[in-house]
Amino acid sequence: MINKSKEKNKMPCLNPNERNKNFEEVALGYSQEDAIKEAQRCLNCKNKPCVSGCPVGVKIPEFIEKVAKGEFNEAYEIIKQDNALPAICGRVCPQENQCEGRCVRKNNGEPVAIGRLERFVADYHNLYGQKSEEQIIKNGVKIAVVGSGPAGLTCAGYLAKAGYDVTVFEALHTAGGVLAYGIPEFRLPKSIVKAEINTLKELGVKIETNVVIGKTLTLKGLEEDGYEAVFIGTGAGLPRFMGIRGENANGVFSSNEFLTRINLMKAYLDGAKTPLYRPKKAVVVGGGNVAMDSARCAKRLGADVTIVYRRTLNELPARKEEVENAIEEGIEIKTLTNPIEILVDETGWVKGVRCEVMELGEKDASGRAQAVSTGKEIIIEADSFIIAIGTTPNPLIKNSAKGLTTSPKGCIKVDEDGLTSLVGIYAGGDAVTGSATIILAMGAGKNSAKAIDEYIKNKGK
Ligand code: FAD
Ligand code: SF4
Repeated sequence: MINKSKEKNKMPCLNPNERNKNFEEVALGYSQEDAIKEAQRCLNCKNKPCVSGCPVGVKIPEFIEKVAKGEFNEAYEIIKQDNALPAICGRVCPQENQCEGRCVRKNNGEPVAIGRLERFVADYHNLYGQKSEEQIIKNGVKIAVVGSGPAGLTCAGYLAKAGYDVTVFEALHTAGGVLAYGIPEFRLPKSIVKAEINTLKELGVKIETNVVIGKTLTLKGLEEDGYEAVFIGTGAGLPRFMGIRGENANGVFSSNEFLTRINLMKAYLDGAKTPLYRPKKAVVVGGGNVAMDSARCAKRLGADVTIVYRRTLNELPARKEEVENAIEEGIEIKTLTNPIEILVDETGWVKGVRCEVMELGEKDASGRAQAVSTGKEIIIEADSFIIAIGTTPNPLIKNSAKGLTTSPKGCIKVDEDGLTSLVGIYAGGDAVTGSATIILAMGAGKNSAKAIDEYIKNKGK
């Protein structure tokens, strides 16, 4: 029976005035009854527009049909065929621009809550599901994966399932990439990331942390150690700065540093080994998910927080849900505002931010309205300034691998299979595209895994 409700079944959330003081997960997930009710909104469309919006091609109507019947483990098995990290994607994928963006229920109301259902199914499986009895026939071929973010983990999972002997090399002491060091606990609990990584380890994937490829080992060294192909999924973790006066003052942080201290090093906990400055008044510059995450972390440390963004709310690139959450939690978003100087006191500490007031002008080549200065200025008092205006790939790999071609922005150049300019070396995710999304990184990892499998099979002929 179809549930004709025009609205998604609501997901319970923690109270904004309580949650903005702790790091507990904000969204609480569906109950079994909620999930079944929401699944009954799906029309099981013949042409499946939602599936074409999913970069890894999850069989959405098929899994939702199982949820509607209360067959949650069966739903999980369907999702798992195409998505190696469903509990993560269900929480942080921008579904509004992907599967849900194409759902036909959107023509007359809200789309089916595909993300919430995916999350429910994955969480149900993690709590009550049986371990897969899948038999893997090992082929003994060694493959190296560099970087343990969603691109590397997805590639590793697919190759391990196909029988390869896969080792992931990760520079940090914890696996997960941005999932571990960037996205905060209140959006993506680290226990969820750990559980998804453990599932990959059960498939035989080995993870070696504290290994920086390009320093500790080189791509050439991996080849000499018997790895027959390599996938590079090293992300885009090098922060961009604004190049304005005062940027070297105390109290100025890149969002990478700020979030890594909080999420990876848990510096907000009493007794943590990593020091952390707890701002009283923080200004965050940027309009993406990284800016929202930085602002919401600063709020949880006790600061009054203002996000400054040079365009309007309509152009904000962050997920709508995260913008709403940030506003509910008491964060001010000052649009049409662009920092031009960080004001510094006599001790060398941030005391404010001088900003120009902007207006929207002509559209640029990408179709986005440009922000143009009105000539007016404002000053915002602050003791901390957090920069979240984007990142680029770290040049370490490129500088250590002769012949690896990159774009002027440092992104690794690849063909449609993810093959780089070097034989047997593939790449994908943010290292290739620049900062993008988890699901696109996963799609690239899956694509290259298939290509690596073909490459090894052809090599053996
Ligand atoms: P990463 O996740 O960056 O992983 C790369 C890994 O490679 C890292 O662990 C790094 O330490 C390791 N590495 C780098 N160099 C080396 C080396 N030389 N040797 C060994 N290891 C190396 N996307 C969404 O879809 N939804 C969101 O809500 C969202 N929120 C975000 C919030 C934040 C704060 C950030 C920073 C990003 C967010 N993104 C979000 C973007 C998303 O996280 C990235 O697009 C995605 O993680 C890219 O995956 P990746 O595997 O290519 O790289
Ligand atoms: Fe269901 Fe929407 Fe996909 Fe149609 S487009 S099958 S209604 S989720």
